[in-house]
Amino acid sequence: KTRRIPFVVANWKINKLQSEIAEFLDNVNSKVPSQTVVETGIAAQDLFLADMVRATQDSPIHIVAENVHWEDAGAYTGETSPRALKDIGATYVLIGHFERRKFFNENDSTVNLKVMAALRNGLRPIIDVDEDMSKYAQFMDAEPSVAQVASALAGVSVDQIRNITIAYEPTWAIGSGEAATSEQAQKAAHLIRQTLAKLYSPVIAEQVRILYGGSVTPDNASALLQQPDIDGVLVGTAALDPVKFLELINIAKQ
Ligand code: PEP
Repeated sequence: KTRRIPFVVANWKINKLQSEIAEFLDNVNSKVPSQTVVETGIAAQDLFLADMVRATQDSPIHIVAENVHWEDAGAYTGETSPRALKDIGATYVLIGHFERRKFFNENDSTVNLKVMAALRNGLRPIIDVDEDMSKYAQFMDAEPSVAQVASALAGVSVDQIRNITIAYEPTWAIGSGEAATSEQAQKAAHLIRQTLAKLYSPVIAEQVRILYGGSVTPDNASALLQQPDIDGVLVGTAALDPVKFLELINIAKQ
């Protein structure tokens, strides 16, 4: 397996309040390994991100936004500017999460605009792709949408691709308690890597991290993370619990 630093990302969605976040970070900050061993990130609601950046100043945890607007500034009431996220010290941003696509009409073209906006402002996109549902219906087999990968990356240069992480999250596995098997997830991650090889080059494809997300727990993480093309996990429910979050990081370290 090509050595890529494993990446464990928590996605808290809109679940935690200020005091709960402070307590969680107090608890885990000093227990997270150096980012040369395992990289860690926590995604939370925008309004807590600046506090989280301050609270993790002496910890390797990266702070991750859950969404971003595609314009740097201007008259876009209610949106969050990528320039502002960079300004407060966020490092990564989730783009195109299934819940954004499902409830907020995000599509491949807005995902691409957001990817370009994030890169332009020095943020690192974690691009979420789900599967090609027509194939899923036909074959009852999960396959990542290669079209989503290609369109999300339209205009992303060879230099910029180093800042990209792709997360494969089958829609049926998110929050369902039913994770993909490690074989299914590996097959999907491999197909994504082949797509990257076609779009860029095999060498570059080997450098991009691909995460699996969807009902990851400390019980199933080890088998998933042992797969040759899976470099990390994106975790919702389990990562709300500091003990499980630290357990997942430890599993990724091995
Ligand atoms: C997610 O929302 O990205 C996710 C993977 O959630 P869960 O771990 O709860 O399935």
